[in-house]
Amino acid sequence: MSVARNTAEFNALIENLRDFIDTEVIPCEDLRLAGDREAMRELTGRLRDRAIARGLGAPRTPREMGGLDLSWEECCSFLEEAGRSFLGPATLQCAPPGQPDIAALDKLASPSQRERFLEPLMRGERRSCFAMTEPAPGVGSDPRMLRTTARRDGEGWVIDGHKWFITGAMQADFAIVVARTEAGPSWFLVERGTPGFELVRDIPNIEPFDLGGHGELRFTECRVGSDALVGEEGRGLENAQLRLEGARLFHCMRYIGLASRAMSIAQDYASGRESHGTRLAEHQMVQAMVADAHIELYAARLMTVDVARRLDRGESIRHESSMAKVFVSEAVNRVADSAVQIAGALGISEDAPLSMILRMLRPFRIYDGASEVHRSAIARRAFHQRLRA
Ligand SMILES: Cc1cc2nc3c(=O)[nH]c(=O)nc-3n(C[C@H](O)[C@H](O)[C@H](O)COP(=O)(O)OP(=O)(O)OC[C@H]3O[C@@H](n4cnc5c(N)ncnc54)[C@H](O)[C@@H]3O)c2cc1C
Repeated sequence: MSVARNTAEFNALIENLRDFIDTEVIPCEDLRLAGDREAMRELTGRLRDRAIARGLGAPRTPREMGGLDLSWEECCSFLEEAGRSFLGPATLQCAPPGQPDIAALDKLASPSQRERFLEPLMRGERRSCFAMTEPAPGVGSDPRMLRTTARRDGEGWVIDGHKWFITGAMQADFAIVVARTEAGPSWFLVERGTPGFELVRDIPNIEPFDLGGHGELRFTECRVGSDALVGEEGRGLENAQLRLEGARLFHCMRYIGLASRAMSIAQDYASGRESHGTRLAEHQMVQAMVADAHIELYAARLMTVDVARRLDRGESIRHESSMAKVFVSEAVNRVADSAVQIAGALGISEDAPLSMILRMLRPFRIYDGASEVHRSAIARRAFHQRLRA
């Protein structure tokens, strides 16, 4: 449970964060950091020290561990502010994969796993990655297609498999690996450097600012101890679902911030630029793009806050988080696309952050469940409810 705080205290926290992002984080943005993992790590580490000095710790981490212990609902405002800069989430310790890995391990880790993996992760001393997706014919959208295996061998396990698009893998100290045992999909904690754990490559993609990249990993006769199993054997898919629900919500909050920033840059441009005898802001078709963007952002915020409140109340958010994920991921892309359109050629250049924002938002329609997969599940549940009614 988070610590209750009064509105004035919370408003001051958000004001402090907004000022930090505007005056200290955004001025450090440099599109030449693209793909330079070490420079990104060094810069966000430096900014994190500044954030902590201003009382801006990790939003969901307990206060006794240096965090802010915010509720999910409070996180909506915090992550929207943090998300306005592509450097914000890593700086404020609310970027994937660390944040959802912490949330999942907090529920599942044994006492020794807490000490060795979770607590150093919470303190920012170690980094994690979550390795589920595999190249074809392995698991992608369909979790039943998991091919990586873990077989019992004496006291421990031997893991064999191939993973890719694993966010943070290039800088992770350990991976949570999803592998099939006799009991079904299960989670294992595997230290980087374990013989048989190979970091194949950092996969180049349209979004080059994620800390630790999106790695391809191979596990060949990779031996781990019996204490590597996380939670109950055979419960790996339920655990992944649990991890994903909070992760999706955090993505929604951060990306609402990024899309709002894009629209505010576009509005500044439209207010200063003229065409056909008047400012762009006076042209009705530009006004319509701006109005639609604000309507979409408003709806996106409301859906996200509703899911956050349900999570705070301990309710199942499976259906609502699916609907929010589809809507928000598509809405923020439409908003960023309109922002690029309004800014004309500047919008697609690297002289403004708009093209970068568009590139960062695009993959969200694919990961944490592609829109089509969510729509199919939402419709299935809708028909099922109708049949029961
Ligand atoms: C930036 C990024 C970061 C990622 N980070 C991680 C990570 O940290 N860890 C990890 O394990 N994975 C990660 N992934 C992988 C992600 O989880 C997968 O991309 C996702 O599950 C989809 O799998 P796939 O790419 O194999 O697509 P496929 O399963 O091949 O699907 C391709 C497309 O087919 C369509 N489709 C698929 N199934 C259906 C269906 N049932 N009905 C209708 N249409 C369908 C959808 O349009 C989908 O986009 C990441 C991906 C990206 C892009």
